[in-house]
Amino acid sequence: MLDNQLESSSLAQPLEPLLDLSSRQAADIFARAGRAQSNLSKLTLDIRLAGLRKLLDYVVENRDDIIDVLCRETRKCRTDALVSEVLGVLDNFEWLLKNARKILREKRVSTPITLLGKRSRIVHEPLGTVLIIAPWNYPLHIGLTSILAAYVAGNAVIFKPSELTPMQGLFEKLFAVDPVMADSIQVVYGTGKSAEQLIEQKPAKVFFTGSARTGRKILHQCAEHLIPVDLELGGKDQAIVFDDVNLERSVKGVIWGALTNAGQSCSSVERVYVQSGIYEQFVALAQQEIEKLVLNSGDAGNADVGGMTADFQLDIVHRQVIDAQAKGARILTGGATLLDNELFYRPTLITGIEDDMALMTQETFGPVVPILPFNTEDEGVDCCNASAFGLSASVWSKNLARANRVARRLECGAVSINNVMLTEGNPALPFGGTKLSGYGRQKGEEGLLGYTRSKSILIDKDSQKLEPNWYPYTRSKYLAFDQLIKTMFSHNPLKLLKMAIIGLKLETIAKRPR
Ligand code: NAD
Repeated sequence: MLDNQLESSSLAQPLEPLLDLSSRQAADIFARAGRAQSNLSKLTLDIRLAGLRKLLDYVVENRDDIIDVLCRETRKCRTDALVSEVLGVLDNFEWLLKNARKILREKRVSTPITLLGKRSRIVHEPLGTVLIIAPWNYPLHIGLTSILAAYVAGNAVIFKPSELTPMQGLFEKLFAVDPVMADSIQVVYGTGKSAEQLIEQKPAKVFFTGSARTGRKILHQCAEHLIPVDLELGGKDQAIVFDDVNLERSVKGVIWGALTNAGQSCSSVERVYVQSGIYEQFVALAQQEIEKLVLNSGDAGNADVGGMTADFQLDIVHRQVIDAQAKGARILTGGATLLDNELFYRPTLITGIEDDMALMTQETFGPVVPILPFNTEDEGVDCCNASAFGLSASVWSKNLARANRVARRLECGAVSINNVMLTEGNPALPFGGTKLSGYGRQKGEEGLLGYTRSKSILIDKDSQKLEPNWYPYTRSKYLAFDQLIKTMFSHNPLKLLKMAIIGLKLETIAKRPR
């Protein structure tokens, strides 16, 4: 067990009441982050990576205790906590350890011939103090993945976990493995009010993962101070299944994609489009598979689907199901909570869905699988793209040319072909959405560089030369430049030679007084 504090933490009764921050407290937190940032700027990337290595080892060694805390606070089943949270975090850490040096190092870039003799560099600087605001569905994975990328990039980090899954004391315990890390990363508890107070302190960037509703509010507040924001928001993700698939694999894959983490994933499969030739078989097999699933939390790794973390989310899920049913949809299985435990919503299979049902237009974020038929490739793509959200998708077909074509036509940030929710499994791939699913990218090179500011440096070693584009402007200089442009963008095979002659002419003109 990590310590007594963690042992006794629970979803219902946090150890200490989660009081929101005063503006004074928020200012103190930023002052401390500013000092940490200044200290960090004197230290090397190797020191940060050494801390990350210690953290990775600590998470591996203490994974059972971490999973206990996670399961208590979220009601996840144990395998979801082990694979999607702990393994996901470790994969990301390892990727950072292997790739951060190359990505963050100063880069030489080419310099055009018009700037002959000069050299160009890009330096990736940390932003300063980054504020990370996280949701409750993957409290460890989303928290640690964002925090460590920001820290490795050289930033001081302020992290606000969801008030629903604060896991009080856990993050502090993890960061204590390394003194520099512990000094540079602060965890702040509270509701959205605490987050608002923190934003008022003008962080260098806000990285937000959560609902589109909150994302809008954050964007408004940040606009006032011109604070850059990345928004990782909700989804209404689609699986599109063509009639040439291996039925068993695609049914099992789609069901897992819809029900893992009890459907409380931003990239859960929430709309399944199945080509009409296999629609009936697909639905029948899906029903069989769903009815075999074991629901539990606090299990030993032998339950398939866990509980719902938030009562209000369970209400949203049930309201959407009831609304669909009232409008003519058929519930083939599920549609209610477990009789003996109302926080477990039974995995629900629904057909007869219409586009205007809340189940189709709003994020569900629960264990519900709506299956709809489609006929042609174009129709399937159009149905998928009709959503206001655009996070991720899966395309299922033996015809890889078709699958690849469809993947490129889908309006979303990530597509798994013949698999599901798997782009998230590769830390080298950026993750993020389009449309109401937000913008900005987490993970991969793009995600890491998102926590940096590029500084461009141009080095001119020659201190003697007068630049032709400086004053004085004269008619002869104008004509020489005009000639240069004409030559430079011509198709003349001798253009380099001609440009060199014009360049020399310009240098001579540059030395002349007006
Ligand atoms: P939420 O928007 O209710 O809360 C997220 C965080 O924002 C919490 O820490 C909360 O305290 C904070 N917050 C609330 N009001 C705020 C305000 N005014 N200013 C600043 N911060 C504020 O989301 P949630 O219910 O915790 O999470 C579920 C949502 O997150 C779903 O929509 C899900 O799809 C989305 N999500 C997206 C991704 C992704 O990567 N795209 C990943 C996981 C979850």
